[in-house]
Amino acid sequence: MADRLPIYEIEEDLVARLRDHGRLILSAPTGSGKSTQVPQILLKHGLLESSRGQGDVRAGQVVVLQPRRLATRLLAARVAEELGVPLGRAVGYQIRFENVTSRDTRIRFVTEGVLLRQMIENADLPGIAALVFDEFHERHLYGDITLARALDIQETTRPDLKIIVMSATIEAEGLKRYLASHGTSSSRVAETLGETGLQNSQGESNGQSPLKSAAPKVSFLESSGRTYPVDVHYAAAASYEQRSPVWEQAAEAFAHFVQTGGQGDVLVFMPGAYEISQTLEAIRARKESKGFRLLPLHGELNPKDQDAAVARYEQRKVVVATNVAETSLTIDGIRLVIDSGLARIPRFDPYRGINTLLIEKISQASADQRTGRAGRTAPGECCRLWSELEHRDRPAQEKPEVQRLDLAEVVLTLKAAGIEDLNSFRWLEHPGNQRLASAEDLLVDLGALVKSEEQQPASTITELGRRMLAFPLHPRYARMLLAAEELGCVQAACLIAALTQGRDLLVRKVDSHSKDKREDTLGDKAASDFLILMRAWNFAAQQNFQLEACKQLGIHATAARQVGPLLQQFLRIAEREGLDVTPRDVPDEVLQKCLLIGFSDRVARRLDLGTLRCELVHGRRGDLARESAVRHSPLIAVAEIREVGRHGGETNTILSLATEVRQAWLEELFPQDIGRTVEVYFDAQARRVYAKELRQFRGLQLDAKGVEPPPLDQSAALLAEEIIAGRLELNDWDHGIEQWITRLNCLTKWCPEFELPPIDAEARRSLIGEFCHGAFTYKEIKDRPVKQAVKEWLNPRQRQMVDDHAPERLKLSNGKTPKVIYSASEPPHTSLRIQELYEVTETPKIARGRVPVLLHILTPNMRPVQITQDLAGFWREHYPRVKSEMQRKYPKHEWR
Ligand code: ADP
Ligand code: MG
Repeated sequence: MADRLPIYEIEEDLVARLRDHGRLILSAPTGSGKSTQVPQILLKHGLLESSRGQGDVRAGQVVVLQPRRLATRLLAARVAEELGVPLGRAVGYQIRFENVTSRDTRIRFVTEGVLLRQMIENADLPGIAALVFDEFHERHLYGDITLARALDIQETTRPDLKIIVMSATIEAEGLKRYLASHGTSSSRVAETLGETGLQNSQGESNGQSPLKSAAPKVSFLESSGRTYPVDVHYAAAASYEQRSPVWEQAAEAFAHFVQTGGQGDVLVFMPGAYEISQTLEAIRARKESKGFRLLPLHGELNPKDQDAAVARYEQRKVVVATNVAETSLTIDGIRLVIDSGLARIPRFDPYRGINTLLIEKISQASADQRTGRAGRTAPGECCRLWSELEHRDRPAQEKPEVQRLDLAEVVLTLKAAGIEDLNSFRWLEHPGNQRLASAEDLLVDLGALVKSEEQQPASTITELGRRMLAFPLHPRYARMLLAAEELGCVQAACLIAALTQGRDLLVRKVDSHSKDKREDTLGDKAASDFLILMRAWNFAAQQNFQLEACKQLGIHATAARQVGPLLQQFLRIAEREGLDVTPRDVPDEVLQKCLLIGFSDRVARRLDLGTLRCELVHGRRGDLARESAVRHSPLIAVAEIREVGRHGGETNTILSLATEVRQAWLEELFPQDIGRTVEVYFDAQARRVYAKELRQFRGLQLDAKGVEPPPLDQSAALLAEEIIAGRLELNDWDHGIEQWITRLNCLTKWCPEFELPPIDAEARRSLIGEFCHGAFTYKEIKDRPVKQAVKEWLNPRQRQMVDDHAPERLKLSNGKTPKVIYSASEPPHTSLRIQELYEVTETPKIARGRVPVLLHILTPNMRPVQITQDLAGFWREHYPRVKSEMQRKYPKHEWR
């Protein structure tokens, strides 16, 4: 039977191309036999044997990367069955927590990060001969990243590796270009690979660098396959209120098909386990289901039930499946597809800073794939449970995960692989610097990465980061679960994680009656909004998630119902990682700390308790949600940050799901993120210096605490500043000391050979600073004696030089000692009455006779007669002319 599959029409071509091409793209419709047959073809034709010199032929393995866990196991089981071998021997599979392989395994189906992890551990990929990337059109994040790494490895350490990319619908052009290109990954990667490569090439005689390899050869192969026409029907346009639940609509479509004589089996697409079980119930309730076998197919089923869904029966069957049946698995004999048009799609929720798995409308391309399932063996029918009008509004294609998911988890994985520069990673589609940077920032805040000190802002993984990587969860949850293990609250942490992952549990806008009732039952104040949510969930569970009972308190019953399975999923993961999941009564404080660790990138401080305004870490702002039960805490950590539009185009940032935190916890848990700055300032009113210590957490201002006494140096400097600016005065700092400083400064210029140190602005500052040392108030310094201290700027010999060569007073030949006035900008001068100059014939000079002193010659009653530096000239020219006039005016004075 297997060799009648369409893939065998191109078998020879496939084998021939793979013999001399390292890279192959294979496009063939769903059901052609790609997933089950290609690995077998590789095995059968010896493409997995690697020859390592004479006679040394090693049996290699083909690893098939699948986007879905459910398909991974089912495909492995199918291939094992076809080969007639037990699962886990020659054919096996490996998903995160299940390894059903052995040393003899030649065909291994894997999912998610399994292969990437192996690449990180050993870039040589020992024992692996070929890699198959299946369902590549789904563009799962791990598919993209793992392919990028595989291409690098093929270009460096493993040129013999075969890489096959397969899909039913493939955007071949871009992919061809990508595969035909040489990598430009960061040099760091090349280095890492280079090292291992060197070890490999030891003993080889060609001596070629292992980094050099020929241009990649890419081959493209397409098979058209067989399909039959499928009739598509749409539902009539109706508002959502008019519509019955989607499972009722599906049952209706099924009944109609049977009534109108429809033949063959039926496949129904529903978004998740809950909707699937509702659908089966609704169909079972119809008399038309008589004689049909009704089968669910989704990831949460046990393997036996999964196998049952794809098995063949004499009886007709209805399979109700998730989108795993879209292209990953083929169920034969389907003639009717009923499509809800919905799926759980992983997507980043920026409000919560996590990836969520919410039910969404599928794209047109997905709908077409689903339709195709009805036309595999004969013409078929497809009922779309949405209107044609609505169909046109749907996106043509879903965005690749790399564009819509939070990158924190892959960034952490790549960091673990030693890739420092994520920007130059070989992205099939670059996610954008901004998104990479925010993923990195989050990981730094969670403690999974540390920013390196070097100039280039790169970061490296921490020990904690490596431990977090073990959890198949968003790093935020991984961090929270690790914290919970230490705090002894794993069970509660899993519940919190489940509560944030799903849809809103509490209706935001409720009427006052429900609000009162809610507050009576659940409380209106709490240390964390999560405590209220936990009470709400417990209440809903007690009420068996009944719509009416839940509605009375404004609880979304469906959202509440979905928490349970999510909780179980988190608990399973925690348990597998060896955490203690025993339910315990946990004090609020312990939970609060755990939440703080998980949301430490979202710590906020209320600006005041009167308003709801908050400041967040890293300089953001927002308002605490009005409905928050945490109202009296100045510090909070929030799990949700929403941007809401306001009138006039402004946006408002609303912080909700808050938890009270204490500053002491921040200091205890994140000592390295607490910044301390001491602010010292002069209080002009009190005329004294004060200091306060300001503490910040990641740039968020915490408290300010007075520091007494303030730091000495800064206090002195501040007081000095006030003095220099003239706002404070020192009583002892008079004109005399200013003159002395000017004399010194002048002399340093006039007689540079003395090498005297001048008192410039800076020296003055430090001198005044010294007087102020030990003081905090003006009162303490006001009367300090400063003259002597200023003069000690010079040693006694230097002081003598100043006295000698820039003297305070001149010594004239007639015995007079007039005072000299010094200035920084003008020549030194002295003022004398004519009589005081008698017998002095030459202009007095200072500074080793280099600087004549400017004489202000005055009348006996101090009126200026002349200003001159030429005394001899005065006596000769000027004096004889003024003398007689003077004698008349001042007859009582002596005139010579
Ligand atoms: P492709 O990957 O091209 O979509 P597959 O290799 O998955 O194709 O499937 C090829 C064919 O093998 C299917 O059309 C189906 O007939 C058969 N097949 C695959 N898996 C199973 C299974 N688990 N049980 C029964 N038949 C199967
Ligand atoms: Mg397939």
